[in-house]
Amino acid sequence: MTQKRIVEVRQNILSENDAIAAETRAALEKDGVVSINLTSSPGSGKTTLLVKTIERLKGRADVAVIEGDQQTDNDARKIEGTGAPVVQVNTGSACHLDARMVRGGLERLRRGAARMLFIENVGNLVCPASYDLGETMKVVLLSVTEGEDKPLKYPKMFRVSSAMVITKTDLLPHVDFDVDRCVDYALKINPSLKVFRLSARTGEGMDSWVDHLISLNH
Ligand code: MG
Ligand code: ZN
Repeated sequence: MTQKRIVEVRQNILSENDAIAAETRAALEKDGVVSINLTSSPGSGKTTLLVKTIERLKGRADVAVIEGDQQTDNDARKIEGTGAPVVQVNTGSACHLDARMVRGGLERLRRGAARMLFIENVGNLVCPASYDLGETMKVVLLSVTEGEDKPLKYPKMFRVSSAMVITKTDLLPHVDFDVDRCVDYALKINPSLKVFRLSARTGEGMDSWVDHLISLNH
């Protein structure tokens, strides 16, 4: 294919995606559902944060989850342990969720009265930034075991996100991660980014994250 043709095909795929995403967004808004598309590199702690978040939301918000992974339902089974309705979407060769996959997931999900939907994307900071899934907001995670300059290296993901969560802060004494510098980089890319610093393991910082989620539902 010529370069021009490749660009055209890519634009068609994205505009079809955006049309499906717009339908999903309208349907979720009509039902009063807040939906959060969680993105990060592999291993930043998305599933662990979700499990701990769902536990803290019990009695405060009804939650449902769409779990995206290339293969396995390991993460979906961890979510199942919380009692929240969950469906696994395997992307196969694709390194991101798209709007069609999420629509399929929603059709399978019995979310009942759930008013908060979490979509755990495939661990990847690149193409998930380009795929609208129909979510209310994207939230990007970055753990302190990674490079603090990731906002500069993958700016689009941080630009399209509404919030950044710095995870695993209990490990800060053991690593050279400079939290303030990371936040500076991220805010340089996206000045309106909300920033949370937390450890899902110890619970430090979880309250303000969970309170923020609750505030989105009102
Ligand atoms: Mg996961
Ligand atoms: Zn991809």
